Amino acid sequence: MTCISIEGITKRFGQTTAVNGVDLKIESGDLFFLLGPSGCGKTTLLRMLAGFIEPSSGRIRFNDKDVTTLPPNRRNTGMVFQSYALWPHMTVAENVAYGLRVRKVDAATRKARVSRALEAVQMDPYAQRRPNQLSGGQQQRVALARALVIEPEVLLLDEPLSNLDAKLRLEMRQEIRRLCKESEITTVYVTHDQEEALSMADRMAVLKDGSLQQLGPPQTLYRQPKTRFVAEFLGETNLLPASVGSREGSKVRLETVVGDVLANASGDDLPDGGNITCSIRPESFRWSGSDAALPLKGQVQEVVFLGDVTQAVVGFEGGHSIRTISLNQGKRPECGEEACLFVEPQDVVILND
Ligand code: ATP
Repeated sequence: MTCISIEGITKRFGQTTAVNGVDLKIESGDLFFLLGPSGCGKTTLLRMLAGFIEPSSGRIRFNDKDVTTLPPNRRNTGMVFQSYALWPHMTVAENVAYGLRVRKVDAATRKARVSRALEAVQMDPYAQRRPNQLSGGQQQRVALARALVIEPEVLLLDEPLSNLDAKLRLEMRQEIRRLCKESEITTVYVTHDQEEALSMADRMAVLKDGSLQQLGPPQTLYRQPKTRFVAEFLGETNLLPASVGSREGSKVRLETVVGDVLANASGDDLPDGGNITCSIRPESFRWSGSDAALPLKGQVQEVVFLGDVTQAVVGFEGGHSIRTISLNQGKRPECGEEACLFVEPQDVVILND
């Protein structure tokens, strides 16, 4: 079992700082995601873990071992690329056996380990086919088997599902998670797909311009984003300018541009009368609430029926609007009617910037 420590890692390419002073600890056995938009530095960070790129500064440790300058073949990592990178002239079994052959594993052990790895990804019936006789999803399974067969300390996955169609991507998400958890290998997975990360990760890091924005389990990052960037990157949200009003016990009244709401205030770190931005997810709004709660009163401007849910835009005085989303049960909002919306304090998130 291997934990990974990334300590103050920076990588510069000429004038570009691809990764900027990132500190991270990845616990052993974790399925850990590096998530962010194109160009945020996630692939560069993954390639530094693999040893393909040497950092400009900082250290990388696998448990207590400093691997910062170790070449890839001395790190015991398995890597799966977006393009699969299978050898076209070799059969599936030969592709999977390749890493064992390089490591001079004897023929009998090799055969047994290859067949175990192919079974794990349900590709044993295809052992004698060549990659061009397989679908994209099957090729990706072989690439996974090839990475897992060497029993790596750390598994590195670089956008492994981006070449697959939407249905297969969904299937493979759970498949990869099952394989990683069963084999208990510490896994680092790079993606720009927030849904992939939210649905698979034990913990994840959101990167922007080479810097770490926030780190934590998917639910925490989704429900308690610290910044506007994280709130918007992980799904849809309403960003509402507000000023801080009176304190009410453990809560604080926020005077937002669409009306007053209560938020759970942590400590005394809010500026009195200061201006802040709060984030409220569309699904957090309720169309009815208790008398004690603060109602937001507006008018329904737009309704989109999407089968299981309905999206609505509610307009307020001053031209402000919010987006809501609700399950289609009971009465649905209708265009032009008065809207009275409620939101629970725990769903009102005060952002740092
Ligand atoms: P994508 O999702 O598009 O793959 P990414 O988040 O993985 O993006 P990186 O590939 O790590 O981003 O690139 C981070 C920054 O570093 C980008 O601005 C990129 O242009 C730059 N960069 C990456 N590799 C090199 C290189 N070898 N030489 C110069 N600049 C590079």
